[in-house]
Amino acid sequence: MFQSKHQLLACLFFFHRGNSRTADTTELIKSLKMEIVSLTEELKGKAPLRCLVCLDAYKKPVVSVQCWHVYCEDCWMRTLGAKKLCPQCQMITNPGQLRTIYL
Ligand SMILES: [Zn+2]
Ligand SMILES: [Zn+2]
Repeated sequence: MFQSKHQLLACLFFFHRGNSRTADTTELIKSLKMEIVSLTEELKGKAPLRCLVCLDAYKKPVVSVQCWHVYCEDCWMRTLGAKKLCPQCQMITNPGQLRTIYL
């Protein structure tokens, strides 16, 4: 998502640079800079929200009330299907101890 939005902004920037430098261009550059800052913040904020099992954003985050580690529901189920342990801290965990989180 960031990649395509960033490319779009780069295109806009390039296009406007071809025109004579007006107050409009300065405004555009200012807003582009602010956009980049907000995108960077967004990325930083999203970075820790990743499942350590599938290394992707949580589809349906589920927490274990045993150790409070969070994974996708599917990842927990797959892991607990093999052995009843938390993949991160090896705490004995049963499917009944999992709770869905509503973000
Ligand atoms: Zn996952
Ligand atoms: Zn754990």
